[in-house]
Amino acid sequence: MDDCLFCKIIAGEIPSKKVYEDDRVYAFYDIDPQAPIHFLVIPKQHITGANKIDATNGDLVGHAFQVIAQITKELGCGDDYRVVTNCGPKAGQSVNHLHFHVLAGRELGWPPG
Ligand code: 5GP
Ligand code: ZN
Repeated sequence: MDDCLFCKIIAGEIPSKKVYEDDRVYAFYDIDPQAPIHFLVIPKQHITGANKIDATNGDLVGHAFQVIAQITKELGCGDDYRVVTNCGPKAGQSVNHLHFHVLAGRELGWPPG
């Protein structure tokens, strides 16, 4: 998508601090971290949000979570981390390209705001 911020990051048109990349997903540190470790995992395919996950693309979600389990180990998060996806403006989604926030490195309260 031409006007999508995260598609531009995947394409390298906007710089980012890469954490991981393969043929299906890209992971990079959030520009406004909410925890000592805060990175985003995004599919390379432009999917606007979690509400657009279906039988044709749902395998990407399982792959993203496998990647998250691997990256968090490599970054020393142990087994303590949170994965969040905000869907829709009322839930806090500000970029309309599916992304999983991964937060770690501090106590994480519940419920979220
Ligand atoms: P959302 O608000 O949609 O759940 O999450 C979008 C996230 O993208 C936010 O945490 C925000 O800080 C991050 N973000 C927005 N623009 C950029 C950018 O240009 N680079 C990086 N690395 N993160 C960004
Ligand atoms: Zn996109």
